[in-house]
Amino acid sequence: MNAKWNGQFSCFDLVARTETRTRRNHCARSVVRAGDVEIGGGDFVVMAGPCAVESERQLLQTAEAVAAAGARILRGGAYKPRSSPYSFQGLGLEGLKILRKAREQTGLAIVTEVMSEQEVDLVAEYADLMQVGTRSMENYALLERLGGCGRPVLLKRGMTATLEELLQSAQVIAMAMAARTTGDPQIVLCERGIRTFETATRNTLDIAAVPVLKTVSRLPVIVDPSHAAGVRCLVPVLARAAAVVEADGLLVEVHPSPDEALSDGAQSLTFRGFRDMMDDLQPYLAIRNAARRSAPELVAAGVVD
Ligand code: PEP
Ligand code: MN
Repeated sequence: MNAKWNGQFSCFDLVARTETRTRRNHCARSVVRAGDVEIGGGDFVVMAGPCAVESERQLLQTAEAVAAAGARILRGGAYKPRSSPYSFQGLGLEGLKILRKAREQTGLAIVTEVMSEQEVDLVAEYADLMQVGTRSMENYALLERLGGCGRPVLLKRGMTATLEELLQSAQVIAMAMAARTTGDPQIVLCERGIRTFETATRNTLDIAAVPVLKTVSRLPVIVDPSHAAGVRCLVPVLARAAAVVEADGLLVEVHPSPDEALSDGAQSLTFRGFRDMMDDLQPYLAIRNAARRSAPELVAAGVVD
């Protein structure tokens, strides 16, 4: 890895320092615990579910289907950040209660988005992993509050944010966490595609973000192929790419009848599509696991003493 990046991305030093201060074996990667699921410990963790919680039936059906296909974490937005105020804004507290019921029925851990500081405590009662959406990556008051809430955080890359800016936001959370507890920072980074001049896909998946972020920080990195692609037919192939670049997992949208979804139907997989994607991933996961065995420990030159 280019040693110059330490200088270019000044925040990486800070990320490494916070982490080394709080870890016994500073060469190991951070492992994030969401419920009883470990992210960053070697397993490829798939988080799947609808963009938004729409009804109890929709969520419970989806939870059963994704669990049967190998997902470990159920996603579903109760508070939805929508670009248009006329779009479905989510079920709020009712959605959180439905998520809790799905966890009770399936044993899946829950990841759901939190949009404002005021909602942090409430969402933390229901979520095993607190999602920060692309539109909130620079909401520093929210990030600080999340660092003190006692739950791990899934931080999505802002759609126009550089990797340095993403890591600076992670650093805000990490510092608030370090003030409260010791141990690995409980933060997962998520590459979900960025805005570029390209219009063929909803966003441009920056696949290089995965090895760069994993080299200069110890945090687990997952990929969201759904928001990157914008169309469901591209999701499985982007998921393969995530596996072979050694991502720690995926965040994928799945819906019982995507054409009737209240949000992001075009990029949501059917249950069958999700099962097929999971089957299709197997040989790529074998490549990933073999590469992990032979790969040297990735450490940015000069960052760790
Ligand atoms: C989502 O995960 O449904 C979502 C709104 O994602 P993003 O913040 O990446 O657009
Ligand atoms: Mn969505």
